[in-house]
Amino acid sequence: MYFKGVFLGHLNPPAKRVANSQKCIRIGGKHNDLDAVGQDTYHHTFFEMLGNWSFGDYFKEEACEFAWKLLTGPYGINENRLYVTYFAGDEKMGLKPDLECKDIWLRLGVSQDRILPFGSQDNFWEMGTTGPCGPCTEIHIDHTMQTSNQASRVNRGHADLTELWNIVFIEYQRLSDGPIVPLPKKHIDTGMGFERLVAVLQGKRSNYDTDLFQPLFDTIKKKTNAPEYQGRFMSADKNGIDTAYRTLADHARMVTIALADGMLPDQNHKLRKVLRKAVDVGEKVFQQSGLLHELSFRVADNLGNVYPEIQKNLKQVQKLIAYEEDLLKSLRDTAGTEWKRIIKTRSALASVSNTTAPGLAAAYKDLQSSLFILASNDKFPRVLPPDIAFKMYDTYGLDPDTISELAKVESLSFDKNEFNNELNNARQRSKMNFGKVDEEIVSQESLQLLEKNNVPTTDDSAKYSYTVTDKVYYFPPVNCKLLGMIVGGKLISETQSHVIDDSQSIIEATVMHSGNIVEIDSIIDANATVGLILDKTPFYSPEGGQGSDVGQIQVKNVIFDVKEVRKICNYVFHIGKFIVQDGIKPEAELHVGDECVATINEKTRLGLMRHHTSTHLINAALHKILPATGQRGSNVAKDSLDLQFSVFGEKLSPKDIETVETLINKSINADVAVKTRTIDALGLTSEENITLVPGEVYPDTGIRIVEIIGQDLQSIEACCGTHVQNTGALEHLCILKVKSLGTGSQSIRAIAGPIARLARQAGENVKQQIILLEEDINTGNAQFNLLDTRVQDIKRQLMDRTERIPLPYSIKHECVSRLEMLARNSKSQERSAMKESIENELKSIVQSCTLPFVVHCFQPVNVALESVSLQKVTKFCSNTPTLVIAHNKEMVKARCSVPKEMASSEFNAQLWMQTVLPIFKAHGSSPKGQDPLLIQHMKSKRVSDLELKGLVERAVIEATKFAALHVKKSRHQTK
Ligand code: ATP
Ligand code: MG
Repeated sequence: MYFKGVFLGHLNPPAKRVANSQKCIRIGGKHNDLDAVGQDTYHHTFFEMLGNWSFGDYFKEEACEFAWKLLTGPYGINENRLYVTYFAGDEKMGLKPDLECKDIWLRLGVSQDRILPFGSQDNFWEMGTTGPCGPCTEIHIDHTMQTSNQASRVNRGHADLTELWNIVFIEYQRLSDGPIVPLPKKHIDTGMGFERLVAVLQGKRSNYDTDLFQPLFDTIKKKTNAPEYQGRFMSADKNGIDTAYRTLADHARMVTIALADGMLPDQNHKLRKVLRKAVDVGEKVFQQSGLLHELSFRVADNLGNVYPEIQKNLKQVQKLIAYEEDLLKSLRDTAGTEWKRIIKTRSALASVSNTTAPGLAAAYKDLQSSLFILASNDKFPRVLPPDIAFKMYDTYGLDPDTISELAKVESLSFDKNEFNNELNNARQRSKMNFGKVDEEIVSQESLQLLEKNNVPTTDDSAKYSYTVTDKVYYFPPVNCKLLGMIVGGKLISETQSHVIDDSQSIIEATVMHSGNIVEIDSIIDANATVGLILDKTPFYSPEGGQGSDVGQIQVKNVIFDVKEVRKICNYVFHIGKFIVQDGIKPEAELHVGDECVATINEKTRLGLMRHHTSTHLINAALHKILPATGQRGSNVAKDSLDLQFSVFGEKLSPKDIETVETLINKSINADVAVKTRTIDALGLTSEENITLVPGEVYPDTGIRIVEIIGQDLQSIEACCGTHVQNTGALEHLCILKVKSLGTGSQSIRAIAGPIARLARQAGENVKQQIILLEEDINTGNAQFNLLDTRVQDIKRQLMDRTERIPLPYSIKHECVSRLEMLARNSKSQERSAMKESIENELKSIVQSCTLPFVVHCFQPVNVALESVSLQKVTKFCSNTPTLVIAHNKEMVKARCSVPKEMASSEFNAQLWMQTVLPIFKAHGSSPKGQDPLLIQHMKSKRVSDLELKGLVERAVIEATKFAALHVKKSRHQTK
């Protein structure tokens, strides 16, 4: 990417002549070799491209000569095995054949019948739809060692005659509207596949037979006991084992390289697809899981000395592989069963190859019902409607290949390439950050109006100009000029004051198009939302997750209130309204070029800066404790921040959150400097330990690096945001929330600044109340009847925080678990206290009782009746006939026991209990294995609150009456 900037003359080259090796992955877009991999000898998903470059230095002659001499000289390749191609010209492009190139080859001694012309398809290189381009010449190699001329087989896709080296002459540039124009300087860019070269140098006909792949094959064989690799292809490879060897080894290299480079399968479905294919091949053909993990070691051995990042990040690579394997397994388990059920009803669906997308079944059902609705409206589609296709992609997570397969089953056509283009456009649009704003102001049309009227773009570099003195931040107002206003979808670049009537109208406007002043009826009233365009601004537009500044712009005697800003194609739109002050309508005659003073709201900006720096610190801390994490997105606002990230394998525990907070607050207390510097794309590649957002495309120049190098925490991020100058300015940081956003993804909400300190204090206060409560319980000072109220009160403080200062997540978590523990402890303490009080109660009854039996109802208890053991109570009076009743507010239970020697046919436990049971409409029983005449109990029975007291009294009377009648003997002694 960096060299593109050099070719276009935007950047200086690091040197005029460069040679390098590039890591290339070709699994999508213009270069997609995925389907060929495993099937042929020379295409890989990942390969190394060796290249030499000339930036305005040597050109065609030397480039061809260098290549030819290297191959036929030091590499010792017989020139009879080589063929060269050159550009045959293209009428449509207005380009002539590259005869200059042909002549060079002739001069180098290549015989005429080996120099072959090809069209733009093969011999014209373009980087993209626009940008540097030029004709190329390719060197092809014959592996068959035939003596006869093989020219007719060149560029025909034969595995034994393949392209080896492509030399591109970058001499043109394609402009955005199509034409090709010469570049100011001419350049050379060449690419030779390392794997293909190694095959030639090691005398092999297949790249897979070289020592780049053999160690991987050995590992597969050793781990799986598979038959030896025999190098068979296509139909000769009957059981597919050799193809499986190649696919697995190739994919293992690509996956290891990509993961070590920080790509995340979660964010790149093509990478995930390759990874899953490798897992599939391992499990289905080699009947073994975990092979990718093993192979990643071999890849690191094989390539690690050239690409040290593989060794350095190997643990993370393996963690991600393990995570992806687990994920795949659980998806297969859950999604798979549902899908199998659906296939039973529609066998054609068995052709869908990737059945692991969790949303597949739901997507298919949705597709069915959408088609049903269309059909019932007589709209039978022949093409998969784009909105349905997009929903399948966006809502259900299906990749375009799967969507295509489903469309085929439904006999609908679906253009995958067009769909991918649309997706790219949508991504571009979302990058333009229109977001949710007033569409009459920030729109493609406004942008075109500004460009058409040659309104200059906005210089917003002043957003970084602020100073700190004695820890106080100062954001100086910026003197600038008014360039235009957008109101109601129109650009106003010249305005006149005009109060029409008593309504709110304030400024009548005229629109100027290229010098012609056109009167319009539109007027700007005090309620109209306006987009102001200035030449310079200190306002920060939402970018890199950081939210918009707010503030004011003074133009003449009127003040414009900026509610938000947006930057599109380098125009900063200040969106807001003119202020009506003290009921007085603002009036002004405004002109292009009027002096303005733009001032941002300092409190908002400081809040944004604090939370942006905090986001970097959280990112760094997360990375420190869980190396396999990746940022997915962030939302930096003035009073909080949200950070979404991927976690692979383990989830963040509350302890981890506490560690993150501690690390950051330590860094805040150490008042570490937050430094920014600017580098270009080349500098970016040589930065070590830098955190980049996966998938983000960084510009060629002016990449800002934000660096916080503390003792325990180091953060280096490429970031365009605004930051505090020292971590001390954050004052304090609290994490408030941790949320799981589905598999492998979590988010954190945090606050920094004075509010964070208050939050910590509020948390400590609640914690203190719990500590007091714990002490009271431990020292026996707690009044159990009040305990519940105290617990409930603390719980309310923990949970209901609307209107109050929020509480730190870690304290809240600790408080909740301490309260649970406390509730458990206090319950058991209460239970033993209750048991003691019941025993005491009975003891005093027995002692004061003059009757030869005991009938007693205990004081109502506050707990569930299961925790009151009447068995222990009756045991306590084992020599005396005893009937006891216990109850709480809604339940009652009873038990009676009669000593053996006192039981008779007239008086026994069963008969005695029978006097009580009908009162409560309850049933009696005896414990298992016990004599029912001696022991009876009545299980807990629900009784209405109103009746309870009366029923219990009646029960006591009836039981007493019965016993008094029958137990006449002198009273037995209690224990
Ligand atoms: P081919 O026609 O063989 O696919 P290409 O035209 O796509 O090659 P270039 O884009 O010119 O190749 O890339 C430069 C060099 O990189 C090629 O000459 C070849 O040696 C090597 N190369 C390209 N694609 C692959 C691949 N998928 N695997 C291995 N090497 C490759
Ligand atoms: Mg190719």
